[in-house]
Amino acid sequence: MPCTFREVITLRNFEFFEPTTIEDASSLLTKYNGKARLLAGGTDLIIEMKARTATPEYVISLEKIPGLAGIDYDENSGLRIGALTRMRTLEKDSLIRERYTALAEGAGEVGGVQIRHLATIGGNISHGSPAADTAAPLLALGAQVKIASADGERVVPIETFFLGPGQTVLNTGEIVTAFECPPRGENEGSQYIKQKIREVMDLAFVGVASSAKSDNGTVSDVKIGLAAVAPTPLRATNAEAIVNGNSLTADLLEQAADAASAQSSPISDLRCSAEHRREMVGVLTQRTLQAAATRAQG
Ligand SMILES: Cc1cc2nc3c(=O)[nH]c(=O)nc-3n(C[C@H](O)[C@H](O)[C@H](O)COP(=O)(O)OP(=O)(O)OC[C@H]3O[C@@H](n4cnc5c(N)ncnc54)[C@H](O)[C@@H]3O)c2cc1C
Repeated sequence: MPCTFREVITLRNFEFFEPTTIEDASSLLTKYNGKARLLAGGTDLIIEMKARTATPEYVISLEKIPGLAGIDYDENSGLRIGALTRMRTLEKDSLIRERYTALAEGAGEVGGVQIRHLATIGGNISHGSPAADTAAPLLALGAQVKIASADGERVVPIETFFLGPGQTVLNTGEIVTAFECPPRGENEGSQYIKQKIREVMDLAFVGVASSAKSDNGTVSDVKIGLAAVAPTPLRATNAEAIVNGNSLTADLLEQAADAASAQSSPISDLRCSAEHRREMVGVLTQRTLQAAATRAQG
């Protein structure tokens, strides 16, 4: 039956909680299993609730839990980004821009400025969208996802976090608390490129991020993240193996591009054909690899 405008914009009633500890938030999630949703910036959840694709009876805000937002860096242990850190913060932060450039670029691609003031990195990743703009950068930067619940903590590599569209490894009662990336030196660079139909406020139809170390023209520790070209964001590991330990010659870049395209498994939809997506994976793999290596040389 067609919905009236009023039906679409009216939220169903729900009970709202503002716990002040992870343990309390986790216990509420477990108690109301299947009927509760976490709320971070709300830019995905509230849209779903308005569209009635989500009708939680209990909404649990993360906002009042101390220590969930912010960026910390240590030369030995590396980068820690709290799950509640906003896209606008990541986009503007000087350390992220200099050392984890692909992530600043990914965050800067999310929606418009108003959305980026609300949208969090934890929400972007936990939502499980294959097209999430911070997913490919986090894959390329070797991120680990910190997950906590009332029962304790665990850490998973971001490669294993996504299970399918909208599906992640999070179990009942689990909350993403932070992302950790290894420390980065001056001889490391990265880049994220997003292809979209409209210039602003559009999801990626292809997103590629590359990261590399460069020593006298030889690249190492290469990581390539792909988004919107498979049921989950993924690493282009075959392409990485081709370029790792070598100079980025035109021939090698072409081989890497072909390998990345072959590792993608895109669909055709209203926005783009699978063939075009696959081709763009190759093009963007070459471009981001070259840019990562150039940035690594300063
Ligand atoms: C107009 C518009 C444009 C957009 N454009 C883009 C875009 O270009 N690129 C893009 O990637 N996204 C885009 N989005 C989607 C959205 O803004 C992002 O995915 C955002 O980062 C979600 O974060 P949030 O804090 O708002 O999440 P919420 O909406 O608060 O939460 C999203 C989901 O994650 C869960 N969740 C939130 N935090 C946690 C946590 N710490 N642990 C476990 N689960 C958690 C929630 O329960 C919910 O299921 C757009 C959205 C809108 C409305």
